[in-house]
Amino acid sequence: MSEAYDVGELGRPGGVAVRCQGVVHLYRTFEGHDVVALQGVDLSIEPGERVAFLGPSGSGKSTLLTLLGGIQKPSAGRIFLGDEEISRMGERFLSRVRARRVSTMLQGSTRNLLPYATARQNIAFARLALSSSERKEVLDERDLLAKVGLEETADQVVSTMSGGQRQRLALACAVSTGPQLLLADEPTSQLSHEDRDHVIGLIHDLGDDLGTTIVVVTHQPEVAATFPRTVTMKGGRVGSEGRDGAEYVVIGAEGVVHLPTHLAAEWPPGTLVRIEPEQVDRLVVSRPRGEEEGLA
Ligand code: ADP
Ligand code: MG
Repeated sequence: MSEAYDVGELGRPGGVAVRCQGVVHLYRTFEGHDVVALQGVDLSIEPGERVAFLGPSGSGKSTLLTLLGGIQKPSAGRIFLGDEEISRMGERFLSRVRARRVSTMLQGSTRNLLPYATARQNIAFARLALSSSERKEVLDERDLLAKVGLEETADQVVSTMSGGQRQRLALACAVSTGPQLLLADEPTSQLSHEDRDHVIGLIHDLGDDLGTTIVVVTHQPEVAATFPRTVTMKGGRVGSEGRDGAEYVVIGAEGVVHLPTHLAAEWPPGTLVRIEPEQVDRLVVSRPRGEEEGLA
């Protein structure tokens, strides 16, 4: 693992809470169709909590992340960072939130960086909106680049860097402002195992040192395993959650429940089931015995 991410001198520590209420998001395609990317997300994340978002491709993970980062606005529903409702903010306030309080690493290694600028210039750019007093509080550029193993690459232009170097630089830029919320969309997808562990270590160090709230989208079980909480998206909703190793499915709007993936094959769509309350905290789901004979 890396050396400690020592940003103790940073003056604005602490994470922010995140809350989604009935968040819906539609994309209008070029042909004029609506694609429903999120259909009613309810989610609450505590200040300083660290969460991994999982789920199949197309389940809405990236969309949700861009909404939390104030990059897009939801079509409906409300999103709060702490007490502030970012889903209602105007662009002027949102740009301040993005520049100082929330850092988002978008999916893919190229979209977070200025390709024709050097590593050093990218970090300076990420910090443009900080005030001069804030600037004194954050880690200096040389230390920041050393943390992600790019000290030798400070004056190299991004377009000549490897995918792994770009992902590490994107992380350095994202943490360079000392954010209260770090959102990272598959930040380790292009890294070797060793670099992956290093980058995930840096992300957790940020949480340890600043109490930053952290949300990471990942497909990698090794990455998810380092997070105390997982949220699994399914069809634009939160399908299930894992906390401290236990799995929970989440009841959605209108009582919708997703079966855990490993059971879904044995209980295919169209299967008739009975749901009977057994106790106040227990339901029994059963399939009629005659089902194989064609009852379903
Ligand atoms: P994930 O990150 O889980 O793969 P996304 O949030 O990228 O999911 O996508 C959710 C759904 O929204 C998918 O059906 C996807 O095709 C659609 N979608 C995402 N971005 C756009 C876009 N810019 N225009 C139209 N549809 C989109
Ligand atoms: Mg995605």
